[in-house]
Amino acid sequence: MSDPQKNDPQKNEAQMNKPSAKKSVKWGEAPKMSILDALYLPAIASGLATAVRHAVSGKATTRQYPEVEPEIPPNYRGVHRLNRDEAGRVKCVACYMCQTACPANCIEIIAAPAPKDDPHWKDRDKFPATFTIDELRCIYCGMCEEACPVDAIELTSIYDLTGMTREEMIFDKEKLLSVFDETVKSGQDPVRTNRGNLGPAAEVSPTAKGAPPPPGRGKSG
Ligand code: SF4
Ligand code: SF4
Repeated sequence: MSDPQKNDPQKNEAQMNKPSAKKSVKWGEAPKMSILDALYLPAIASGLATAVRHAVSGKATTRQYPEVEPEIPPNYRGVHRLNRDEAGRVKCVACYMCQTACPANCIEIIAAPAPKDDPHWKDRDKFPATFTIDELRCIYCGMCEEACPVDAIELTSIYDLTGMTREEMIFDKEKLLSVFDETVKSGQDPVRTNRGNLGPAAEVSPTAKGAPPPPGRGKSG
């Protein structure tokens, strides 16, 4: 429950007017604009001068995307994938660490108890019944993969993500697992996957061993 006193504007103003509060607050002055600045002419002229300078220098580079695909750095953070374990199950143990760490609040998980009578799941307490990521809200910061204790969630180098509706851009568990399947098949494991003895996902995928260098893009399934 929120503290009603905390949200009381009158009380907050009274606090700000206390002598001790006034001493600790430094008020900045907005810079004054000249008439010329207010017409934005210097800014427009400066922008044009920059454009002309680049045009005549011969050093300007125009990316011919999508005809020519860009070179993606190996540590690029693109579309997420949910990894599978050796048994092919979703590796996620539904601990909510990624959801808690996510600054954009774009991960939603519903955990379910692992079926106790199924020997396939006897080593697990929980698994994600549902797992969704809103790829449009995501800021691709990588906090989720850093927070994951079992390296179940990773960001891949897939960048060409498109969709016709917002709903299409909310990836569910099956979609995220299909990104794992696609990237493993094409040898596009994220570099962070093979970064050493930091967790189960540090093992080199058998299908990725000896695979040619990643082409820099792939399909998200
Ligand atoms: S990359 Fe960052 S913003 Fe995106 S889901 Fe992970 S933690 Fe959230
Ligand atoms: S992806 Fe990792 S951090 Fe997120 S709920 Fe699953 S196990 Fe926990």
